[in-house]
Amino acid sequence: MVESAVVTIKDKSFKPFIEADKIQSRIVEISQEINRDFERNNPLFLSILNGSFMFAADLMKSISIDCEISFVKLASYQGTKSTGNVMTLIGLDAEIEDRHIVIIEDIVDTGKTLSELLPNLKRHRPESIRIASLILKPEALQHDIHVDYVGFEIPNDFIVGYGLDYDGLGRNLRDIYQLKS
Ligand code: 5GP
Ligand code: MG
Repeated sequence: MVESAVVTIKDKSFKPFIEADKIQSRIVEISQEINRDFERNNPLFLSILNGSFMFAADLMKSISIDCEISFVKLASYQGTKSTGNVMTLIGLDAEIEDRHIVIIEDIVDTGKTLSELLPNLKRHRPESIRIASLILKPEALQHDIHVDYVGFEIPNDFIVGYGLDYDGLGRNLRDIYQLKS
């Protein structure tokens, strides 16, 4: 189904960008790669909330190998030092030592989130860590992050829908929309 109309969220207008069908077929392709790469590895997927909940759910439907999934959140708070925002990982209840981890992200923009998350996870000594992100903005990347499974590479414009929000709204949209300039 195609939602072809422009959507308005609060003060901004968004135009259709990636249709639901296209998202779904790309996710099936990614899941097939993961099925091949992690056969017999019993990977542990770590879905980074909130944005990745839809991608994680749809991805898992096409993962046919033995696997587990857990959900974590990065809480950002204002540090007391001049270093600014510090991000802490909350909700990591799974034992990740010696496990093959696949991080599920909605979008990698500057890469800051992952550059803080990865050292945090590595302290728990997983066997391997790979990253699956539905969206990558290559022009925005400022950190040395390699995304192993990329759904779509897009230009450096703001998007909403399919889990991604604008000020808390728009996560429920089945298509992805781009901010109208
Ligand atoms: P980072 O810059 O750390 O890679 O991305 C941080 C976070 O910014 C992402 O997880 C996501 O929540 C948010 N973000 C980055 N680009 C966009 C975008 O185009 N749309 C939305 N809705 N969120 C974004
Ligand atoms: Mg995110």
